[in-house]
Amino acid sequence: MDKTGVVCLVGAGPGDSGLITEKGLQRLRSCDAVVYDFLASERLLEEVPEGCRKIYVGKQAGRHSMKQEEINRLLVKLAGEGLFVVRLKGGDPFVFGRGGEEILALADAGIPYEVVSGVTSAVAALASAGIPVTHRGLSQSFHIMTGHTLSEGEMLPADFSAFAKLNGTLIFLMGLGNLSLIVKGLLEQGKMAATPAAVVARGTLPGQKTVRGTLASIEEDVAKAGITSPAIIVVGETAALDFSSTFRLPLEGCLVGVTGTDSFTEKLCREIHLQGGETRRLLHLNIKSFRNSGQGKAAYEKLASYTWLVFTSANGIREFFAGLLESGKDLRALGHVKFAVVGKGTEKELAGHGFYTDYIPDRYQASDLARGLVKILSPRDRLLLPRALKGSKELNAILDQAGISYDDIPFYDVILNEKEDELQPLNCDYLVFASSSGAEAFFERKRPGSESSGLKNLKIVCIGDMTAKALLKYGRKADLTAEVFSSFGIVQAIGSDWEQRRK
Ligand code: SAH
Repeated sequence: MDKTGVVCLVGAGPGDSGLITEKGLQRLRSCDAVVYDFLASERLLEEVPEGCRKIYVGKQAGRHSMKQEEINRLLVKLAGEGLFVVRLKGGDPFVFGRGGEEILALADAGIPYEVVSGVTSAVAALASAGIPVTHRGLSQSFHIMTGHTLSEGEMLPADFSAFAKLNGTLIFLMGLGNLSLIVKGLLEQGKMAATPAAVVARGTLPGQKTVRGTLASIEEDVAKAGITSPAIIVVGETAALDFSSTFRLPLEGCLVGVTGTDSFTEKLCREIHLQGGETRRLLHLNIKSFRNSGQGKAAYEKLASYTWLVFTSANGIREFFAGLLESGKDLRALGHVKFAVVGKGTEKELAGHGFYTDYIPDRYQASDLARGLVKILSPRDRLLLPRALKGSKELNAILDQAGISYDDIPFYDVILNEKEDELQPLNCDYLVFASSSGAEAFFERKRPGSESSGLKNLKIVCIGDMTAKALLKYGRKADLTAEVFSSFGIVQAIGSDWEQRRK
């Protein structure tokens, strides 16, 4: 007999990925499959474990989406395979989310389910625009209605008149397409033309827009502002209030597309989130280790013969030290060795393994490292360079010319993770490349034709000159280059640029 899985309906919140609940996030981080809607924040999909099945079921106007019955069947089928399934839904699963229908189907099939409530956009998108749903003395209640069903035959539903007469805050979800009908209906039911009204689009997300007016003006105001869905219409006295945050983190409202290896992007994304920005991972690179290859093993055998260890990347350091222990040796095998690194990031990584740096160049490039080293080395020195397979050959040329003896040994390669590959930096304000291999992988694999749609309006950020050079091959200049070669440097570069753009 099949073992039965579980389906957990999780509310993803209104858009800002920070507004999912801790419980919802826990479920996401342990699921075997996630079935998600358009409204759910894409960044949340990065939280699922590797190998988790990600199934998009749509619900975006104008794009193909699965019918509700098909979604119900899909959930039953996945759970029938014994999977722990998260059904990720925008906002709260029960606020116009058809969560109930999915539960009925699961109950029918005898499948255990759980509901993790979410922050509904009906409250949170308004709050983000500074509109409180209630306010003492102004509005004692709030009422949420769908504006969607209104369109059937251009008829207002029977209970609309009762709804329109309420004194509290009136909130319409899915109503933008019927704004005119809603306004007309409210006026006909006796609401004053001067009643405050507002429309909030993409609430809590980068690109959030708010239009404020009155029932008399709101249609024209919305048309002028070019507002698009998802949007919420709010009518009532509190729509005139503006309690939007007066404190903003430096990267708030900024969406950064990120490419690179897990260890790098995780750190970078964490720093961007701490500064209030959103991230989208566009290209996953994996490290393929060669530390146990024949050449790698031979290097560990010969450690006593080297006088310098030279590192040009943090990956090289991590691989070298992991391999050292695996070779049966430990840090005592390095007591006699001096260390050179290419920059601040590698210096810090090395310190994390218990060694201070003996040489670091003034400018953080492989060629500067080689030139600087040549000046302080003697003919008796022997260097070990545990590096990337495709490391810069400039370094070799400089050492060769100076007659320095060295072993340049590939300890790893950076390869593209095929499965996760998602190359569209839609809506991103910045796109970060942290290595030339990342830039190459991105442009080599980009689908033809996507250039114009994706890359026009964003700024490209590079970690250093080498990466910027690699970009030039594809006819693209780096808009920003980090001064400090680290994730911190990148966040700094974006931060000062974003400050200018926000002004
Ligand atoms: N269950 C969801 C609502 C689903 S109905 C919730 O609790 O939020 C979809 C409608 O929600 C959209 O048409 C729009 O009216 C509203 N909506 C969802 N997210 C929104 C956002 N970030 N900003 C503005 N409106 C949003």
